[in-house]
Amino acid sequence: MTNLYPLSARVFLAAVDRWRQNPKQRVRWSLKVASIAGIDVRIHLTFLLFLAWIWLSYYRVAGLAGAVHGVLFILALFVCVLLHEFGHAFAARGFGITTPDITLLPIGGVARLSRIPDKPWQEFAVAIAGPLVNVVIAAALIFAVHASATLEQLEYLETPRVELLSKLATVNIMLVLFNLIPAFPMDGGRILRALLAMTMPYARATQIAAWIGQGLAIVLGLLGLFGSPMLIFIAFFIFAGAQQEAAIAKHRESQR
Ligand code: ZN
Repeated sequence: MTNLYPLSARVFLAAVDRWRQNPKQRVRWSLKVASIAGIDVRIHLTFLLFLAWIWLSYYRVAGLAGAVHGVLFILALFVCVLLHEFGHAFAARGFGITTPDITLLPIGGVARLSRIPDKPWQEFAVAIAGPLVNVVIAAALIFAVHASATLEQLEYLETPRVELLSKLATVNIMLVLFNLIPAFPMDGGRILRALLAMTMPYARATQIAAWIGQGLAIVLGLLGLFGSPMLIFIAFFIFAGAQQEAAIAKHRESQR
């Protein structure tokens, strides 16, 4: 299935969530599909196009069974992403912060928090709650269903040779690892910023986390030049995310 962009890249993008963006306005062009514990679950219209595209590309290579398998797997992956967002939302609720909605996009989830946790340890708790959900899912799959998650599987992840539940376990471990990269805009960047902010001013902590994110993006971009255009795309994505996070923090600082 060489015509599909690598699954690791897709999981990587799904791992980059933005749980504090768009504080006032919900994500446009999205449909409400459910309401869970007072939080609206919305699906962006491009997500439906994305599913159609997955269906068609798998259908072309592996027929109807392949298409069903491909779409089921993507849906299962995004259920895990959704649960990850609920992890952030429930942790935030513990600090009296509401989450009006969570929106799924082809590039991951957006949890819209009513406000940003202002104490570093609260931000730390909200940031780490998301990846912890994926740790629990992976552990539950591995121990309860005896799904085996091995690195070897990554090579075969695109083929029906690996069972859906084993794939999901592997993908959840990848979500945890990608999320914990200590660079904006990943959750790991927020965890790093929160830890730094315990010992230095918030603005300086943000600046350092943003620099690390942009440094990482440049390294990824350079690696991408030697072969993977997808890596260059991800590098741009991370660079922009880090810049955006720094801008939001500056804006907050100026409003204090
Ligand atoms: Zn997250």
